[in-house]
Amino acid sequence: MKILAVNCGSSSLKFQMYEMPEEKVLISGNFERIGIENSFYSYKLNGEKIKKEAELKNHAEAVKILVQELLDNNIVESLDEIKGIGHRVVQGADKFDKSVLVTDEVIKTIDELSSLAPLHNPAALVGINAFMSIVSNAKHVVVFDTAFHQTMARETYLYALPYELYEKYGVRKYGAHGTSHKYITKTMEKYYGENKKLIVCHIGSGCSITAVKDGKVVDTSMGFTPNAGVIMGTRTGDMDASIIPYLIKKLGYSADDIDRLINKESGFKGITGGISDSRDIEDGIKEGNEKCILAQKMFVRSVVNYIAKYYVLLNGADAICFTAGIGENSPETRKEIMDSLSSLGVKVDDEANNSRGKFVKVSSDDSKIECFVVPTDEEVMISRDTYELVK
Ligand code: AMP
Repeated sequence: MKILAVNCGSSSLKFQMYEMPEEKVLISGNFERIGIENSFYSYKLNGEKIKKEAELKNHAEAVKILVQELLDNNIVESLDEIKGIGHRVVQGADKFDKSVLVTDEVIKTIDELSSLAPLHNPAALVGINAFMSIVSNAKHVVVFDTAFHQTMARETYLYALPYELYEKYGVRKYGAHGTSHKYITKTMEKYYGENKKLIVCHIGSGCSITAVKDGKVVDTSMGFTPNAGVIMGTRTGDMDASIIPYLIKKLGYSADDIDRLINKESGFKGITGGISDSRDIEDGIKEGNEKCILAQKMFVRSVVNYIAKYYVLLNGADAICFTAGIGENSPETRKEIMDSLSSLGVKVDDEANNSRGKFVKVSSDDSKIECFVVPTDEEVMISRDTYELVK
């Protein structure tokens, strides 16, 4: 059965088509700069990458080109072969604890939740509407990045704010990257069996750490928005909330200024004065750049703090899993994190850890907690959920 996994941003559309249940990738690609000049798209087919320029005024035009490419490249003979389309939605709040088939009611709820994810939910809706009108015979499924975190207890997800702010305005922890955390949990269940205690470190340009017990999330580091938790490429992570009114009074910052400051100008970028990519941070460290050294120390400490906290919360841990851009590809950062956990009995296997982008145990055999690199695959998770609801 052919299933398409889709991830729409405000000016982008990523897609991956699978033959399910084999999970064979048939084609994958990306439309970029939708609604902006110089738009283009690219796709990977049979190991070859093809890039084309195209005027993409809106998402519907991107979808039309995408389906034409599927036909032209003989991925499908007719659009009726596409049985399901899975759409990633960033914010499902406490309304969705699993993926669901799209209905008018579901669309309305995603729309209502836009105030909690103003950049992401509207973009997902544009994509859903475009695909529904062009690939109308397929079943459409929405996969929420918050759903996997819905098992957190109230004492975990509440902030110590007046309770009515939660009741009236939904101010609470929702978490993010749930699709990735779920994929890692399922992969580890296959490897390890169920009933394990995992600390999953999704560390890329966005970072979230999640404590998982018996396949369910107990706590996660991102909060009301994906700004909370550990230090990230351009996001602050946790900080004293009173810094915000202080800056408003001192510098006359507006809400938008603050939003930009804490989401786009902080993290690695803020500390170093412009470097947000961890590869550049690593290069800077090699050249003796003090700010890069400082940023890396702060980052490692913030990750280690969460791992330590979740180790206590879970009453021990069977495994620590590293995933996403940094987690999968930076042996140096993994080693620094694992070395900082020596008091918990974590020991690195330096040879095994010297690898990138593949599933591998990176702790030594006498380590008290096993540590793994587990490459994430959010698209296949979207495709699996879609297949289950469509088949
Ligand atoms: P993601 O958001 O998961 O795509 O991850 C992006 C982050 O992963 C960026 O900060 C990249 O610099 C980082 N990354 C990717 N490859 C490497 C690498 N080889 N070494 C260090 N960091 C990397």
